[in-house]
Amino acid sequence: MALDQAIARKLTEIVGVQNAGTEVEARICHSYDASKQSAMPDIVLKPATTEEVSEIVKCANENSIPVVTWAGGSGLSGGAIPLKGGIALDTCRMNRIIEIDTKNMTATVQPGIVVTEFQNEVAKLCLLYPPDPASADFCTIGGNISECAGGLRCIKYGVTRDYVLGLEVVLPDGSITRFGGKMLKSVSGYDVMRLFVGSEGTLGVFTEATLKLIPLPPCVEAFSAFLNDTNLAMELVHEVLSIGELPRAIEFMDRNTMKAVRNHSKFDFPEETGAFLLVEYDGWHSEAVRASAEKAFKVVSAKALQSKFAANQKERDALWAVRKASSPALYSLSSKKLSEDVSVPRTQIGPMLTAINTIEKAYGLTIACFGHAGDGNIHINVIVPEDMDKHDPKIEKMIAEIFERAMELKGTLSGEHGIGNLKAKYMHLEFSEREIELMKSLKKTIDPKGIMNPGKIFV
Ligand SMILES: Cc1cc2nc3c(=O)[nH]c(=O)nc-3n(C[C@H](O)[C@H](O)[C@H](O)COP(=O)(O)OP(=O)(O)OC[C@H]3O[C@@H](n4cnc5c(N)ncnc54)[C@H](O)[C@@H]3O)c2cc1C
Repeated sequence: MALDQAIARKLTEIVGVQNAGTEVEARICHSYDASKQSAMPDIVLKPATTEEVSEIVKCANENSIPVVTWAGGSGLSGGAIPLKGGIALDTCRMNRIIEIDTKNMTATVQPGIVVTEFQNEVAKLCLLYPPDPASADFCTIGGNISECAGGLRCIKYGVTRDYVLGLEVVLPDGSITRFGGKMLKSVSGYDVMRLFVGSEGTLGVFTEATLKLIPLPPCVEAFSAFLNDTNLAMELVHEVLSIGELPRAIEFMDRNTMKAVRNHSKFDFPEETGAFLLVEYDGWHSEAVRASAEKAFKVVSAKALQSKFAANQKERDALWAVRKASSPALYSLSSKKLSEDVSVPRTQIGPMLTAINTIEKAYGLTIACFGHAGDGNIHINVIVPEDMDKHDPKIEKMIAEIFERAMELKGTLSGEHGIGNLKAKYMHLEFSEREIELMKSLKKTIDPKGIMNPGKIFV
């Protein structure tokens, strides 16, 4: 849909000509995200204030123009793709920390701030904002709230949802609303704020967020182990957890991932490695943290092919380097790699990995898995050969089977990447017709004209 010239002029006036773009270069830069899809917006707007966002959205609503909020563009489910054209509303100029309230341990920020920048600022005050997606260096708080991002430390600290105390939202009619605040407790009325967290840009534009902080734990200990197979790795995860102290991360990689890491990097580990575990503890008392980590290390190293307890930060970084090599190593197998992120109850990770092995054999395509063994979130990487179309019916059937197995194990389609447009067609596997109807009716109540990020979550 081409944008009416008069409306384009009106929208441009709201943000100023230097912060608006209808030329193809600006639009291309807002046509994609990390899901490797693309669709062009008609105009790119970079507002600086809540009032400007409100005016943009009001104009869009009056003229039934789609609004897609575009932040870091790191989404993996197509959330920021302007599927139906319209406005790409880029939050890059709304990137200020408004306040860090050390006594209430909260921070109020604009949505466009990059997660690591925010974390570094609060760390200077010995405070921690725990959600830590692997993309933290280039994704934003607004994008994280919209996707309810997770990350590496969820087993101990939870996900983004657990840290959002207050939200300012521009609703699809342009009105400015506020939910929550600095209170840690509130049970007044329906918890509408929570509905917005994880809503994937389909209900409104977040223009300010108040986030919970915690004291920064200064002590960290970590170890890793190369193991025979993932069954043993999952057994050890349960043993580690039964020690009593929660680690802040338990990461795993499977045999195919380790094979790719071996070929792609120079890490030295036993040829027969079929699984990798990395366990990290943190806390406020060094002796207690060390004691828990050593106890867990004893359990794991007794059954490992090779293991290492890191003596200092440099050695911890070296352990993490192995885990962080997974994604680039798998991309080196195929640029068409697909990444799913089902989540299952922790005890079902083993059965899920077994089911994936069966699917892999049946379809004759490599599937490599790694992820967060502590919270059940498995990153499933389907290595689509370069000469194959990733929309090939065989691939689609295989993905559907993976989701079906996850549902049988009482899991969910996505642990942290969201539904976007990519997984919309599988929603019926997880939800009944009535449940989807209920979600759609909430969307219709808040966004009757359907201008907010159309084509996402629902088909
Ligand atoms: C290498 C890599 C590693 C990753 N690792 C993780 C990980 O460990 N854990 C994890 O959870 N995710 C991970 N992701 C996925 C991605 O980083 C997250 O989904 C992140 O939250 C997206 O943030 P963004 O700022 O890039 O948002 P975008 O991709 O720009 O947008 C994502 C969605 O948020 C909406 N949105 C953005 N800002 C607002 C706002 N202010 N108001 C309303 N809606 C808004 C958009 O419309 C879109 O629907 C990873 C991605 C990559 C590429």
